[in-house]
Amino acid sequence: MTNKEKEAFITLDPEEIPTSWYNIQADLPEPLPPPLDPSTMKPINPTLLERIFAKELILQEISSEPSIKIPDEVLDAYLRLPRPTPLYRAKRLENYLKTPAQIYFKCENFSPTGSHKTNTAIAQAYYNKKQGITRLATETGAGQWGTALSLACAIFGLKCRIYMVRTSYQQKPGRRIIAQTYGAEMFPSPSDQTNFGKKLLKENPNHPGTLGIAITEAIEDTVTHEDTRYSLGSVLNHVLLHQTVIGLEAKKQFEQIDTYPDVLCGCIGGGSNFAGFCYPFMKDKLKGKTEAEFVGCESKAVPHTTKGTYTYDFGDTGKMTPLLKMLTIGHEYACPPVHAGGLRYHGMAPSISYLIHKGYMRSVAYSQTEVFAAAQILAKSEGWITAPETAHSLKFVVDEALRCKKTGEKKIIAMNYSGHGLLDLASYEQFLTNKLVDYAPEKIVIPTFSR
Ligand SMILES: *Cc1c(COP(=O)(O)O)cnc(C)c1O
Repeated sequence: MTNKEKEAFITLDPEEIPTSWYNIQADLPEPLPPPLDPSTMKPINPTLLERIFAKELILQEISSEPSIKIPDEVLDAYLRLPRPTPLYRAKRLENYLKTPAQIYFKCENFSPTGSHKTNTAIAQAYYNKKQGITRLATETGAGQWGTALSLACAIFGLKCRIYMVRTSYQQKPGRRIIAQTYGAEMFPSPSDQTNFGKKLLKENPNHPGTLGIAITEAIEDTVTHEDTRYSLGSVLNHVLLHQTVIGLEAKKQFEQIDTYPDVLCGCIGGGSNFAGFCYPFMKDKLKGKTEAEFVGCESKAVPHTTKGTYTYDFGDTGKMTPLLKMLTIGHEYACPPVHAGGLRYHGMAPSISYLIHKGYMRSVAYSQTEVFAAAQILAKSEGWITAPETAHSLKFVVDEALRCKKTGEKKIIAMNYSGHGLLDLASYEQFLTNKLVDYAPEKIVIPTFSR
């Protein structure tokens, strides 16, 4: 074995951490369709958003600068997550599958909260703090985003208010307890803290809640508290921007071993971990410098990109957000209770929706039983317990590696390992005891807005 072949973890030194984020908006063939004000159906005036988001984040949202400098305070917090994260060659998985393909994972599972979400949480808390904001409000489904933002608020000394989807609040206390330990105030959504929540509770005191409802509550909380701004964990351009630190590191790591991936993949909930990992490579595809394939992996129960429509839709159930042009299954879609809580959102990031629509990438959908079967293969071969969300892209990797076994192709497959599943063991138990339910999509109602 050469030294290169021996390397299990390809690492970067702290001084090699990227110092700017990559903004894909600079390299798209045309500008993204603008967010619309639902009352006028005209492009929204960005200053109207200043009551909701920190100013710097709004500028990033609409920026077409190719790179945006990472502030020193954010870099310092990144180094302590720690970043740069390693790139892992999953040799034992390759051997288990007897594939000629090479499999690489970018390890976002090592952060204190166990997922990639800290990369944007830290940046968002920093810009709000810099502007003099003292409190952030947000929503969380399974709790990955809630833990990340509450950690970031603890680091920068901000108050944090979180509306957590009621079923998760009750059934998955682990991440709620972590966020509370970081000092966040948590309420089950629908809650008695907002008018929208009170209205829903009056109709049904046991309302299970959805992510779309929790978003509405967090925005209502924001606009009724002067010291507060809202923070979102995925979907928006500035969130995807912050996550590109992942792919910029990965690119340097692949350069170190003189390799360029043939296939890149990631699971897609709102799109931030996929974009963060893939966009620095997608830049090469947009410029015609690579033929690499890009694959987003979603849940069959929430088939927003495989069964959705590319159209304008609201980001939340209560219709408080601007309209975004995206692949959507409708803001009223009742996402079934699959274990991959982070994939339960009706829409997809506008830039990913655009790239799928234009054929620069594709997407696939899996049901949860086949996803957990892939996760068990990884557990047996490498020892890693994978987040249910992440396991959706693992399923693609396993299938692709087995396809390569048949054709003899020595493809380089790269995946963003977005998080570990050590707080998701109840879902593993359901899999192991054959109790997992595979959901077919419910009726999909696509809203139509005329411009
Ligand atoms: C939230 C989450 C996702 C999905 O969200 P994206 O915005 O699509 O990244 C995927 N994996 C993990 C571990 C998550 O916590």
